[in-house]
Amino acid sequence: MFFTGYGDQMFIDEARIYVKGGDGGSGCVSLHREKYRPKGGPDGGDGGDGGSVIFEVDEGLRTLVDFCYRKQFKAERGVHGQGNNKHGKRGEDLVLRAPPGTVVKDEKGEILFDLTYHGQQGIVAHGGRGGRGNAHFVSASRKLPRFAEKGEPGEERWLNLELKLLADVGLIGYPNVGKSTLISRLSAAKPKIADYHFTTIVPNLGVVTLADGQSFVMADIPGLIEGAHKGVGLVGHDFLRHISRTAILVHVLDLAQVEGRSFKDDFEKVNNELKLYDERIFARPQIVVGNKTDLGSAKAEVDGAKEYFKSKGYPFVAISAITGEGIDDLLWLIKEKLDLTPGEELLGQIKSFRVYKYDKREEDDFFEVKKEKGTYHVVGKSVERMVVMTDLGNEEALSYLQQRLKKLGVEEALTRAGAKGGDQIMISKVIFDFQPSEN
Ligand code: GDP
Ligand code: MG
Repeated sequence: MFFTGYGDQMFIDEARIYVKGGDGGSGCVSLHREKYRPKGGPDGGDGGDGGSVIFEVDEGLRTLVDFCYRKQFKAERGVHGQGNNKHGKRGEDLVLRAPPGTVVKDEKGEILFDLTYHGQQGIVAHGGRGGRGNAHFVSASRKLPRFAEKGEPGEERWLNLELKLLADVGLIGYPNVGKSTLISRLSAAKPKIADYHFTTIVPNLGVVTLADGQSFVMADIPGLIEGAHKGVGLVGHDFLRHISRTAILVHVLDLAQVEGRSFKDDFEKVNNELKLYDERIFARPQIVVGNKTDLGSAKAEVDGAKEYFKSKGYPFVAISAITGEGIDDLLWLIKEKLDLTPGEELLGQIKSFRVYKYDKREEDDFFEVKKEKGTYHVVGKSVERMVVMTDLGNEEALSYLQQRLKKLGVEEALTRAGAKGGDQIMISKVIFDFQPSEN
């Protein structure tokens, strides 16, 4: 084994939130009045659409902590329509910023979005449609419609968010060279020269925040086992996800050579494995860390190692993960390298990850009729929306609804399913008596 392995789950940060799109504004019933035109036409304006709740990737974010305190997110509702053909204003969208690597799942665990690159958006709760005003419903047989549509309620749902953190700095190296100790040391350290703060998210990963406010995610990279480049071990895709944003690799070596191997050999072997796995990752800048300098045998190697790696073109820092010696130097060296390595360029490489489309706005006239305990249920997006947007207390609106349902073929389907006049029909929680039209 060349790299210490950790399960993928260990990198996951989670949150459960409720989102609701704004309700659509209702359409208006109004008849135009003018001094010299007593019989003006219908002029009720449309209600505005409700705003949607949208996720947007912000590469400056690293955790889901914003979703741990506040849990409910609602977009603005649409304004109702008014007379004189005045349409209601659209509700504002509510944009929620999330870190790259956020996976948005619905309650059933189905993935809605896999958010990876800066600026990527996904609509998680659509606003309801605005209802149409009565001006819309004028026809040859209906000169003065006295009804309008109600606004559609905004979509609401619970979401499970999972963050698969993408590390900026990946620790690589043979087992037992001190990678885990370094991570835990960072979280416990009382910094002397450099002022930094370390937030441990999981035992092998944390966010280092430096005095200037800059922060980066440092992780003990999940395992490449021997032969991982051949597809054994961690699924390549998952591994790549974590390492793909890794701007810098910190290659940890045991200068004390406690396990009897030479640190120079370790360095070559790990790099060969990495190169076989992915040349691009191998090409990332590496900082070489000689660890365990608190041991005399390591101390004796420091100068030689420094010369050796310098001649190979690598920056080198000697540290002791146990005493904390050299760790400040390491962090500032990392910062320096990160400043020189544009993250965006690297992020570009993961743009090809699968993006899950979710758009219920597409018209879907498909419906089904199901009979349950003597009641006929009509289930389908368009059909249900029509009912929800109907002012059921209004006779005219009801007869218009019946016309529309008939046009969609609902009446015919009900008859085919065996429904007779007077049977109970249920559409979107509303119960109707079935009254097939005469013709
Ligand atoms: P990893 O497999 O690379 O994560 O290595 P670990 O962090 O688990 O460390 C392996 C062993 O080396 C443990 O027994 C540590 O206590 C020890 N170790 C790690 N860093 C140092 C160090 O700086 N000095 C000394 N003396 N021992 C260390
Ligand atoms: Mg370890």
